[in-house]
Parts: sequence; structure tokens; C-alpha cells
Amino acid sequence: MNKFSKDARIIVTGGGGFIGGHLVGELIRNGHSRVRSIDIKPLDYWYQSFPEAENMVLDLQSLENCRQATAGADIVYNLAADMGGMGFIEANKAACMLSVLINTHMLMAARHAGAKCYFYASSACVYNSEKQLDANVTPLSESDAYPAMPEDGYGWEKLFSERMCRHFSEDYGVDTRIARLHNVYGPFGTYAGGREKAPAAICRKVIEAKQSGKHEIEIWGDGEQTRSFMYIDNCLHGMRLIMENNVSEPLNLGSDELVTINQLVSIVEEIAEVRLKRRYDLDAPKGVRGRNSDNQLIKAALGWAPDIGLRDGLEKTYAWIYDEMASGSQSRRAFLGDFGASAAP
Ligand code: NAD
Repeated sequence: MNKFSKDARIIVTGGGGFIGGHLVGELIRNGHSRVRSIDIKPLDYWYQSFPEAENMVLDLQSLENCRQATAGADIVYNLAADMGGMGFIEANKAACMLSVLINTHMLMAARHAGAKCYFYASSACVYNSEKQLDANVTPLSESDAYPAMPEDGYGWEKLFSERMCRHFSEDYGVDTRIARLHNVYGPFGTYAGGREKAPAAICRKVIEAKQSGKHEIEIWGDGEQTRSFMYIDNCLHGMRLIMENNVSEPLNLGSDELVTINQLVSIVEEIAEVRLKRRYDLDAPKGVRGRNSDNQLIKAALGWAPDIGLRDGLEKTYAWIYDEMASGSQSRRAFLGDFGASAAP
């Protein structure tokens, strides 16, 4: 069977989360009939769930559960991780590193099941922090992950798991793909509760300021730190191309539209048609000073790179968060983070 045929059994871990939920939706819309979506969270708390998929609630830190999740698997997308934005990963390093159990056991189980291709969601947090000291950063190319000095906790786990994929490929013939995702955002993601990332957090704060009439916003750091942000549709497109091609080396999958956090706030203010007084919390977690994606390798390998403009993606994200907050879903969404290993006593 062609590994991408419509009746291939496709496993998506983290299917109750942001990227996994979108991926399952896309696979089903594209006519895949045997999609299995797995998450540790009870189904009621998944951002998106699809009755057409086989939905399973399992803790994938356990090898036995990974075996159950991958039974009969042709393709595996491992998107499950106990993670969040900078506020979460700086305060939960052990929990982040425990995601090594998910990827290790998923690889073992995928090999056992004879899966034909295995995707691992790595991160720009693998890059050497010394190359990210300047807001006017040179975009990070794939070779900048070594010599290793990644983000403490979360980044070390991602780098180790990348190498685990590489060695399962070299030693056991598991065909692996690795994308180094750079800040993905969009609807159906975390925007409250402590795991949210900058674009969603800023949308939420602007909406709160607008609704309360207290026209003020708190920004972490001095707002001059730089990042790039990739809209979810570009992420899905890139993941599909990476799976269809034969590049097993890690590839950047990120936008190269660099902005400061202050510029990000200004864009959201424009969308919301409001101007807010900015308060800077210089003691808050800030992450590296500057980070951008060098897209030369992905362009050479796949003939494509993320291209959706930040303003366009933020408009859709803002609208979704606005509706969620207006409908009173916020408290439920805020609770979403509490099922990972970090919630363990
Ligand atoms: P997310 O938190 O929305 O989704 C991850 C899902 O994994 C959650 O639903 C969570 O409940 C689930 N999970 C956690 N522990 C589990 C376990 N033990 N068993 C089963 N499920 C478990 O995050 P996301 O933004 O969708 O990220 C998906 C993947 O992409 C992650 O590996 C993440 O590290 C990676 N990534 C994301 C970004 C980004 O900007 N969103 C950037 C870089 C890398």
C-alpha cells in the first residue's frame, strides 16, 4: 500500500491539542478514512475532535499505551508533548523533559508496528542560545543547533528526541521526518491558563483591556525581543510536504517575518481598533533576545516556505479568541493544561 493512500492508518498523537487537532481535521477533509487521534486529556477538553476519527484517551508516556496507540499504524505523527509558552517551559523543566518518554516509547511502538513513516515535532528551542543574544538576530539555519546549547529543559528534550529519531532511522530503518517548528499560532489553541504563547496571550490581553475599558497591557520584557510566527495553515502545509519528501534531516518550519513583541502588540491593537498604555514587566520570562527562521534549506528541499503574513493570520486568531471569550468558553479552555505530567503530584 502507498503510505499516503486514503486507507493508510494514520496515527496523530496530541490530537486533542492545537496542531494535532488541526492535522486530524485536515486529514479527514482530505479523505483519509483511518485516522486515529490520541491525547491524554478527556475528550471533552480537546480543542477539536472529529467523529470520523478513532479517538483515544491514553497517557503516551507509557510504552504499553504507545503500543495500543500504534497498533496497525502506517504513518505516525507524534505531536504530543507536555508544553506551553515561555511562562510554562521556564517553570516546568522536568515536566517538559519527561516528554522524552512519549517520543521514545512512540518510536519503539512505531517500529514494532512496522510503521512506514514517523514524524516528530521538534522546535526552534533546540538552537544554541548563544546565537540568539541579539534582537537583530541572524536567522537560524539548521546547523546552528550544534554545538548544543538549547533552551534548558524543553529544548534539550527536543534535541535529544531528534537524535533518537535519527538513530532509530539509521539503526532500525524507521523512516523519520523532523520539523523544527517556530512559534505556530492560530485558532483552536491555548490562549489562557498559563501555557499560552505570545500571539494568543496578546490577543487575549487586548480583548480583556478593550472589554474592561482599562486601556492598559502588560508586556513581558521590554518588548524589543524579536520572533517570527507561523500561521497554522502554513504549518500543516509544510508538515505534509515534509512527509511526502525524503529529507530525514531536521528542517526549519517557520516564518521568516521577524517582528518585535512591541510590533506584534501594535498589529493586534490595529485589528482591535484600540490603543493601549504599555506596562513592561522586566522580571517576567522572556526567552532568547532574538529568533528567526532561516528558510534556505526548506526552500531548496521542498521548493516552498511559509508565506502567510502575520497580520492575516492574527486577524483570524483574534476573531476566534474574541468569540471564545464572548461565548464564555474561557474558563474551560483555561483548564486545558491540567492533564499533562506537570499536573502529577
Ligand atoms: P498542545 O499543547 O496544544 O498539544 C500537545 C498535546 O499533547 C496536548 O493536547 C496534550 O494534552 C498532549 N499530551 C501531553 N502529554 C501527553 C501524554 N503523556 N500522552 C498523550 N498526550 C499528551 O501543543 P501544540 O502547539 O499543538 O504542539 C504540538 C507539538 O509541536 C508539540 O510537540 C510541541 O512541542 C511542538 N511545537 C509546537 C510549537 C508551537 O508554537 N505550537 C512550536 C514548536 C514545537
